[in-house]
Amino acid sequence: MIATTLLALAAAAHTPTAAAPDTGYFQQGVDYRIEARLDEATHVLHGRARLRYVNRSRSTLDRLYLHQHLNAFRPNSAWARRELELGERRFTDLGPDDYAYERFTSVRAGGRPVAVTYPGAPDSTVAMIALPRPLAPGDSVTVMMDWDARLSTLPRRQGRKDRHYDFAQWYPRIAVYDRGGWEQHALMPQGEFYGEFGRYDVTLDLAADQAIGTTGVVVEGEPGWTPGPERNAYPGRAAEPLGLLAGAAEAGRKRVRIRADSVHHFAWSVDPTYQHDVVLRSETNDLAEQRNLPTLHVLYLPADTGWGGSVVSRRTYEAVRWLGGMFGPYPWPQLTVVHRIEGGGTEFPMLIMNGGNGEGLVVHETAHQWVHGTFGSNEWKEGWLDEGFASFMTNWYWEEHGNPAVWDRSLAQLADMERAGKTEPVGWEGARFSTPQVYSAMTYTKGSIVLRMLRDMLGQDVMRRVLRQYYAEHRLKHVTGRGFQRVAERVSGRDLGWFFAQWIDRTDKLDYAVGSVSTRQSGTAWETRVEVVRTGEAWMPVTLQVGGHTRTLTSHARRQTVTMTSAERPAEVVLDPSSLLLDMDRSNNRKPVP
Ligand SMILES: [Zn+2]
Repeated sequence: MIATTLLALAAAAHTPTAAAPDTGYFQQGVDYRIEARLDEATHVLHGRARLRYVNRSRSTLDRLYLHQHLNAFRPNSAWARRELELGERRFTDLGPDDYAYERFTSVRAGGRPVAVTYPGAPDSTVAMIALPRPLAPGDSVTVMMDWDARLSTLPRRQGRKDRHYDFAQWYPRIAVYDRGGWEQHALMPQGEFYGEFGRYDVTLDLAADQAIGTTGVVVEGEPGWTPGPERNAYPGRAAEPLGLLAGAAEAGRKRVRIRADSVHHFAWSVDPTYQHDVVLRSETNDLAEQRNLPTLHVLYLPADTGWGGSVVSRRTYEAVRWLGGMFGPYPWPQLTVVHRIEGGGTEFPMLIMNGGNGEGLVVHETAHQWVHGTFGSNEWKEGWLDEGFASFMTNWYWEEHGNPAVWDRSLAQLADMERAGKTEPVGWEGARFSTPQVYSAMTYTKGSIVLRMLRDMLGQDVMRRVLRQYYAEHRLKHVTGRGFQRVAERVSGRDLGWFFAQWIDRTDKLDYAVGSVSTRQSGTAWETRVEVVRTGEAWMPVTLQVGGHTRTLTSHARRQTVTMTSAERPAEVVLDPSSLLLDMDRSNNRKPVP
């Protein structure tokens, strides 16, 4: 599908309007009111949600799909079976006290009890509700859901350990309905996130000594640390009771109310020993910047070295400032970083769960606040849009913060894969990649290298304008690779269909080589003739360096002969001297002048 549209674009090349405008875009209306109680004795969370769902599409809907993603972390799930194929038994062997689950106890839609079916059974990460009456365009339906949820003792995204609970998934999360129809997918290791933007008003009943880090802003109750002025970010509107948390909290318990707007996921984490660190926006003297910065809260563990003393909060703060300058201001009043059980990191809107304090991890996950949180891309279909972009922005950050050689390792790794013929199209759906390693190399690493090639071909200033325009047009919306391409073409005034086709849709290989080289004296100058050979299918503008002189070659010829004049006799000729291109064989890029 993407290949076809890109071919159509290539056929209409060199007309600035080649990329058709994005008509027919819509986003469904989603409003969650949730009450939930965490019972630490059984580790079970009891929840009740009222979901108001508005059909803004042009189609009448006869059903809703919801994700119960906790059900991935148990035997027989699609996730566990995929891991089993790869020789990994960890969720397959997880016992009844240890696996995760999410189970409905009651579901009503439009006031009537409805049956829940699991079309992917035995996987139960996708639940289907047949609506009692069809939902016409513009109509809304209210769904009331009671459920129980438990995290797994083996951490993967979510997890629990003693009194620490990482609720990465926990509630029935409405699947996205977009122009392609329902995007309901079993949760799998490759590709994970795609959500409807919506409003959340959540009341949690917790043990009184728990400290919580969460998507959204704590507007009522004690989170276990002192909130800042962001507490008033969502004024008005008293909590509407759903009846699960009737009366006041019991002795030894507390209620915390959290609100968030325009977020496509809601995650949270509690630990009674969380230490708190904060950076308030009022700390900066620049008023314009103050308005654009969220308050940052960091929750870490007592044993952590290298988290406190403002280490993680300052790293996050620097990343937020830099990223806000690249795309545009952070769109929410607060950002929280928590130290989760599992290593690595996972992004949620307004919340980052990190397993470590490394600056690269902090910047990558903070970048996801933009390229995932505010650009709602479909990670199942186009993982490079968030992971490639987050990796690209992280490396760009490093280039500007004292590490210009940051690309060398990824370029070398990818060149090895290109030569070995192990690459697969970056634009493939996540589940289609042959292994998690290839998925990761194509989505994160090659995706980031492709964006870097785009940046250096357009120029950094143009790329900055592309990012800002992309954000201005697509923030808090669902985005596609085509949408990004359209913005890049409009801002740069160039047809880029060929670029995205060769680097995203296909696995074209790039290899420039120096052929024959000769030089001769002509008067006082030296004339050097260089044969430049393009052996791969891919083409990119390439820089030729002869001695101290450079020239950018834009011919598509397989073989071209270039003559360059210099005052000194050149010692060497080099193609792509700054290593900007994904050239699969760099050994033939330089030759001494005979
Ligand atoms: Zn990432």
